[in-house]
Amino acid sequence: MSKPILGILGGGQLGSMLAQAAKEISIETVIYCDEEDAPAKKFANHFIFGDYKDIKTIDKFINIVDLVTFEFENIPYDTLEYINKIKNVYPKPSINKILQNRFYEKNFVNKLGIKTTDYVLINKEQDVIENKVLLPSLLKTTTLGYDGKGQYKLNSIDELNNLKIDYSIEYVLEKFIDLKKEISVIITRYNNEEFQIYEPIENIHQKQILKKSKIPADIGDELKNKSKEWAKKIANELDYIGTMCVEYFVDKNNELYVNEIAPRVHNSGHLTINAFNISQFENHIRAVCELEKIKLKKQSNAYMINILGDEIIEYRNKKYNSNEFFFDYMKKEIKFKRKMGHLTVLRD
Ligand code: ADP
Ligand code: MG
Repeated sequence: MSKPILGILGGGQLGSMLAQAAKEISIETVIYCDEEDAPAKKFANHFIFGDYKDIKTIDKFINIVDLVTFEFENIPYDTLEYINKIKNVYPKPSINKILQNRFYEKNFVNKLGIKTTDYVLINKEQDVIENKVLLPSLLKTTTLGYDGKGQYKLNSIDELNNLKIDYSIEYVLEKFIDLKKEISVIITRYNNEEFQIYEPIENIHQKQILKKSKIPADIGDELKNKSKEWAKKIANELDYIGTMCVEYFVDKNNELYVNEIAPRVHNSGHLTINAFNISQFENHIRAVCELEKIKLKKQSNAYMINILGDEIIEYRNKKYNSNEFFFDYMKKEIKFKRKMGHLTVLRD
């Protein structure tokens, strides 16, 4: 079979890195994005600008690709389903339906016998009051949150008055965990049910945004194995094809909890570009395009720093050593806290 043409929904930094990885293994890409000057435009073979609900433009996209994947999970489910009737979408849209919603996602994880922090669905203020045993908590919108957006810290019921919460949308109230560490496991599942799994990555967040990721994670073997086993179990249960990420919390008693699952390549896995022979992006492309799975080898330990907002100016003017890899996402506008680039440093 000749190599397929891969459609990618979303043209941000993840779409850029997917398109670059595809190019390196001679896979042609078509990126579809609702932003005309999307960063990934430069890296794709073709680029289509359109709204994710504009079926006419989506049809044009479907016509010129062999299969479709995406860089972020919040593409409208109806659009994914529509595309999937004509060309295969990987991972499957039904997975998104579960993982786009924090409440469904936590229900799914707990049904597998895997732990999350305690949580409850919230539709009105009275629901919060009735569940005050969960405080201190985070109140999170069930859908569309990222980088800590749509989240409120709640220490006591009195604070509700100041927060002005809009109950026309749904939330989950989840118990706040006294974190010892956060880790993530990046896993790629191929359609022959084989895995490619990276070692757990330790993540440091600042104000709910990922700031630094590193390998090896400073955790014991028991947690390393458990986090990998859980990721495998989740990927199997979802019949997942491609790369996904499971984010975990570790509390002060070394208990492991699933925080959330990203059905896509993930920011914490950027260091795989330089630290492994095959990156999370290449693994994703290989899995969805049904290419050969190549044995994964770590080349080096590493850490990655996210460059946020105007920090990028300083990084653009720096000189780098041969073990330092600076990635500039070339976003048009510098915005406060926006992910503008990253730096990966390899070390022994
Ligand atoms: P997002 O979709 O914005 O990534 P997350 O649910 O992953 O949302 O939350 C972002 C970060 O906020 C987490 O990585 C963690 O640092 C902190 N956080 C979220 N939920 C909790 C919790 N229940 N207890 C403690 N910290 C939390
Ligand atoms: Mg998260």
